[in-house]
Amino acid sequence: MKFVSVAIDGPSGAGKSTVARAAAAKLGYVYVDTGAMYRTIGLAVCRKGVAGEDTEGIKSVLPGLRVGIAYENGAQHVLLNGEDVSSEIRTPEIAYYASRVSAVPEVREFLLSTQRDMAKNGNILMDGRDIGTVILPDAPVKIFLTASSESRAERRYKELIEKGQQVTMESVLHDINERDRQDMNRAIAPLRQAEDAVLLDTSALTLDESIEAVLRIIREKTEENK
Ligand code: C5P
Repeated sequence: MKFVSVAIDGPSGAGKSTVARAAAAKLGYVYVDTGAMYRTIGLAVCRKGVAGEDTEGIKSVLPGLRVGIAYENGAQHVLLNGEDVSSEIRTPEIAYYASRVSAVPEVREFLLSTQRDMAKNGNILMDGRDIGTVILPDAPVKIFLTASSESRAERRYKELIEKGQQVTMESVLHDINERDRQDMNRAIAPLRQAEDAVLLDTSALTLDESIEAVLRIIREKTEENK
């Protein structure tokens, strides 16, 4: 049986995970948030007191580390050595660590087979930065989902304030620009649009419109490939 893989890549804060999760639920596909896996490694590194710039220190954390994925009522949970850390990874500090650890080739290698294997077991919708370019280059559907950095910062700011975190709009915009810069300029698996990916800019779209647009692209592409 051949399964369908949908790869959704794009910068942080473009609404990727919300849109991807909703589209996957609608299609009955398993949603895989690969950013959560990098965040989990970032958390492990942070807990060990290793600095984000310390590549050797980051590598030394990898042996003995298990990053697991579990599903509860359709929602993805990430496990760090069996501990559910799904909420703990959603802070600006861990986002920073995720971005740093994700630039280390050994970290990417560590997650590569886990991510590829997930696509062998069912229909999946996987979101990240390098899914269409590196992890699933043969995916029949690839979407590059983006939005202007201002509209991404605005959305992220609202999200963090709702969670009760103390942030300013300036700091959120700064963090987003900084993460974009790091994600696009790293030597390994930089964030870029795959040649065969459909570009979707959600700056002027509501959440529902973005979900609809993604579903439309998936429908069109899967029809084409039949
Ligand atoms: O998507 P999210 O913001 O949770 O990702 C956190 C960080 O993990 C990103 O800034 C990026 O550096 C990294 N990442 C990556 N490759 C992926 C997914 C995330 O490098 N496939």
